[in-house]
Amino acid sequence: MTVHDIFETMDYGPAPESASEARAWIAGHGGVFGHWIGGRFTAPGDLFETRNPATGEVLAQVTQASEADVARAVRAARRAQPGWAALGGHGRARVLYALARIMQKQSRLLAVLETLDNGKPIRESRDIDVPLAQRHFYHHAGMAQLMDSELPDREPLGVCGQIVPWNFPLLMLSWKIAPALAMGNTVVLKPAEYTPLTALLFAELSAEAGVPPGVINIVTGDGAVGEMITGAKVDKIAFTGSTAVGRRIREATAGRGLSLTLELGGKSPYIVFDDADLDSAIEGIVDAIWFNQGQVCCAGSRLLVQEGVAERFHAKLRARMGNLRMGDPLDKCIDIGAVVDPVQHETITRMVEANTEGERYVAPIQVPSIGCYYPPTLITGLTPAATLMQEEIFGPVLVSTTFRTPAEAVEMANNTRYGLAATLWTENINLALDVAPKLAAGVVWINATNLFDAAAGFGGVRESGFGREGGWEGLSAYTRPKTRGAVLRRVMPFTGSGAPLDPLDRTAKLYIGGKQARPDGGYSRAVHGPKGALLGHVSLANRKDVRNAVEAMNGARGWARTTGHARAQILYYIAENLSARRAEFAARIRALTGGDGESEVEASIRRLFTYGAWADKFDGQAHGVPIRGVALAMREPVGKIAALCADEAPLLGLVSVIGPAMAMGNRVLAVASEAFPLAATDFYQILETSDVPAGVVNILTGSHEKLAPHLAAHLDLDTVWSFSSSDLSRLIEEKSAGNLKRTWVNNARATDWATAEGRLWLDHATEVKNIWIPWGE
Ligand code: NDP
Repeated sequence: MTVHDIFETMDYGPAPESASEARAWIAGHGGVFGHWIGGRFTAPGDLFETRNPATGEVLAQVTQASEADVARAVRAARRAQPGWAALGGHGRARVLYALARIMQKQSRLLAVLETLDNGKPIRESRDIDVPLAQRHFYHHAGMAQLMDSELPDREPLGVCGQIVPWNFPLLMLSWKIAPALAMGNTVVLKPAEYTPLTALLFAELSAEAGVPPGVINIVTGDGAVGEMITGAKVDKIAFTGSTAVGRRIREATAGRGLSLTLELGGKSPYIVFDDADLDSAIEGIVDAIWFNQGQVCCAGSRLLVQEGVAERFHAKLRARMGNLRMGDPLDKCIDIGAVVDPVQHETITRMVEANTEGERYVAPIQVPSIGCYYPPTLITGLTPAATLMQEEIFGPVLVSTTFRTPAEAVEMANNTRYGLAATLWTENINLALDVAPKLAAGVVWINATNLFDAAAGFGGVRESGFGREGGWEGLSAYTRPKTRGAVLRRVMPFTGSGAPLDPLDRTAKLYIGGKQARPDGGYSRAVHGPKGALLGHVSLANRKDVRNAVEAMNGARGWARTTGHARAQILYYIAENLSARRAEFAARIRALTGGDGESEVEASIRRLFTYGAWADKFDGQAHGVPIRGVALAMREPVGKIAALCADEAPLLGLVSVIGPAMAMGNRVLAVASEAFPLAATDFYQILETSDVPAGVVNILTGSHEKLAPHLAAHLDLDTVWSFSSSDLSRLIEEKSAGNLKRTWVNNARATDWATAEGRLWLDHATEVKNIWIPWGE
């Protein structure tokens, strides 16, 4: 095509980016790669091919790691870790800064290599993936610098196993490696089988930047290698990928005391209200679902349009789809490249072909005949329960339905098992800021979509996983408290025989939905004091009591919407009422445990005051992200918390759980100390007189071992905490995989109840939702 022809047709001319540097880098390695272990490439082993999905051409051969390779990488990381941590925050900051700089210098090479290996348009790898990856290293160089002063009580975890997917190979690597290194950890990372090349180039660049040998190790291979890393002696697993694999990793790591973060799939809603700037919303949707061919975990793949504008919006959308340009990803004028692999292409095709509902519209654009190209597709008129409205397609396919009212939009948006991201478009700020907090998502974009920054945490709720990447909250997943509790011994109930101390013996009931309730099973057990005296009887709760308590919690949803001020008042009121009955509670604790009841009651009153104090002070943040606008990091309650309370501190352990949970707007199902339950059953009399709304706090008594599986497997609980002296950590983590609920377990370590309060607890009682709000005309 000549310039003259182009002027004649006003068509786009080709604008290809040269791939010669990237190909020269591959050729420099003979087209064959080993792993990067201990600061150098190993000799290649069993090889597999990595291909360019736009052409099918083999780019290079890469080594499939064996168990021995993974073990070697973990050993190298383990050896390097103490030295890397000892370098100090400033020392590490300098290295991370050097890494950021070298990525900047080599940004075009990284972008071209990424596009070759993944098939994404060069415009995206050059302008989005690589700059965001660099930004992550700059930001975390700063985090390393600030660690000593800002996180004085935290230390590195050790060796982190990291598994990343193929959709953003270099960016996901950066999200994982930058915070890990900043906090003094070393890593063993596996890139996806389809896209290993930028990780290998990055490894080589890391040596040039002065990263000591063994601090970064890259092993290549398929999912089996991911499994090997998961099974290796590492201190943390950080995973990004599908929910199905995330669930398996949750099970495989259960009970090993590992830190775990899972960034999983999504089916994120894209909500367009009738007063939205429709043309902007159309451009937004191009970014939401056709960015990276829709292979984005937080893709706005589920369009919800308000009925009054739906027809107009869909017409505009179809017109826009006709203008998308699909083709050679190295062409700088291309909007849509190739999907990552024929296997992914097949998956998309199969899912779309299986759908028989609604109306399918395929963009009338040129689709290259060679390579893995899937045309932009819109399916309208689906019902909310349709498979394609619920399942992640992970391709350039948008599904759409309509709604009438904002309340209906929220309900439909939340009608999914996922909770990664959400987008909403409206010109009405009142509507936007009313709806955003109601959406079940870790990230919400208002009048924008797919915005990311290292300063703002990213991550999901529900089956989109747990943990955040980026921001201060992302760091906690790469550190642990410096102090570790001693081994926790099982606290056994006292046994005895004989007449009750009080002849008016009564059986303490359960406390569900603000009422005392008989246990469903009708069983109870005797509670004895240290010298064998019979102190009373206590109910033994079962699965149905758990179910009833969760129902009661559902009825107390409004608690999350109360103000911090109101919650503080109630917490102070509980403390006041406990204080009025301090002597009675102290005597009860003495009788139960033989311990110092006065001190425990005093500490419990103090703890309630602490959380009364925090209720209106544990604020979010306004992040200065690089847009004209702000990202509001809002603290939200986790939701419904079930907690197995400490056996050794029957009242203080209970109050230490209820306090932060209530203060942050959660509803609680507390299972009392198994050994000394009567302090908790007395405590509900305090709750009954303290204006606590029914269902906000529920107290069960009984066997921790028997109740734990029901709590962990319950699909309608959001988190389970365990401070039980029965070692239930493995069981709880394993069973929690069903709905991927968050867990906080003691791993059979004791808690110092005298000091167990504050930010750590408040962090566990909250989720951070980042709401991005651009401004300007
Ligand atoms: P996976 O979840 O299988 O892959 C993600 C990473 O985990 C890859 O490095 C993969 O290795 C590795 N892996 C695979 N199996 C295991 C295992 N048992 N233990 C540990 N690591 C493992 O995603 P897929 O690539 O198979 O894609 C399948 C679907 O997942 C997609 O269609 C999409 O819906 C979703 N997905 C979601 C992503 C997200 O960001 N939320 C990202 C990628 C996929 P390898 O690639 O070498 O097999």
